[in-house]
Amino acid sequence: MMERPTVSDKIETVSHSSRTCKVLAVDDSAISRKLVERSLLGAGYEVLLAQDGREALDLFAQHLPAVVVTDWSMPDIGGLELCRRIRQDFQDCHSHLILLTSNTDKEQIVEGLAAGADDYLTKPFHAGELVARVEVGRRIAELHREIQAKNRLLEEMALTDALTGLPNRRAVDVWASRQLSAAARHDFPFWVVMADLDLFKKVNDTYGHDAGDTVLKTFAEILRAHTRQSDICARLGGEEFLVMLTHADKEGTRTAVERIRKQLESTIFAFGDSTTAVTASFGIAGFRGTKPPEWNALVACADTALYAAKHNGRNRMEFAK
Ligand code: GH3
Ligand code: MG
Ligand code: MG
Repeated sequence: MMERPTVSDKIETVSHSSRTCKVLAVDDSAISRKLVERSLLGAGYEVLLAQDGREALDLFAQHLPAVVVTDWSMPDIGGLELCRRIRQDFQDCHSHLILLTSNTDKEQIVEGLAAGADDYLTKPFHAGELVARVEVGRRIAELHREIQAKNRLLEEMALTDALTGLPNRRAVDVWASRQLSAAARHDFPFWVVMADLDLFKKVNDTYGHDAGDTVLKTFAEILRAHTRQSDICARLGGEEFLVMLTHADKEGTRTAVERIRKQLESTIFAFGDSTTAVTASFGIAGFRGTKPPEWNALVACADTALYAAKHNGRNRMEFAK
């Protein structure tokens, strides 16, 4: 099995993203484009060239350049509109936007900055100054992107169980409430399955906590492998898991859960010199109709059914009454 990257691995990857810096230069005048290109190539940047706003947006979407240097007035989409669109359409990937303008009117400069530009230069520009400002932009954009990537990672971590990589309780609560409303609106069946490993404390006590963790991870893999893309499985905490299924009738749900139960039951765990098997019990509650119950109430029903499965001998499933 491939090792899942750890959180610190992911942070490392985020911090050491590629250092090549792309700059998009946009100008409808071929001479102006050439001037900007020459200055930037000389400073070692990878330069992308666009002759109008539309081409610039296409190139931007394709390459996500760290810095954009754009002319102010162009036919079709002008520099101002270009800044506005980039800010609006690419909120997850920051770029530093520099307006090149022959306009020294302060009112217009204020308008440009309000449209999302970070900086401006007046034409004719000084090549050294352009490079220096692009370099400032590169630094700012890289920092921004690093923070954005780390934020995405933190959001993902907040919704993921660290041991198994499955969604956690918080993720499930958000997703399930939404799915439950959808089930009522579009009239499809919705099932919640609570699973709990049997006599798991004994596994820890006999083989150690690491062995227990291995069992938890293996059970998570089994759940993942037996859950459709449109369904969700999660670890609620401890040795309690949850599966949500939609678009299945009672028999279909029974078959799906039975497959999971059998797969775990037949998995042989080897710890040191000994081998052992582990089982799980399942409690299932379903809903179909136009008035969805509270998500927590449905989980409580599945929990009661789980308790019955334990009471009735474990390694089995029970449906809520
Ligand atoms: P039952 O069949 O009634 O569910 O019995 P059980 O032993 O599984 O239930 P109990 O609730 O008494 O024990 C649950 C055990 O799960 C206790 C704890 O040691 C173990 N456990 C909870 N979280 C973890 C974890 O993250 N790692 C490991 N290794 N063990 C855990
Ligand atoms: Mg248990
Ligand atoms: Mg338990």
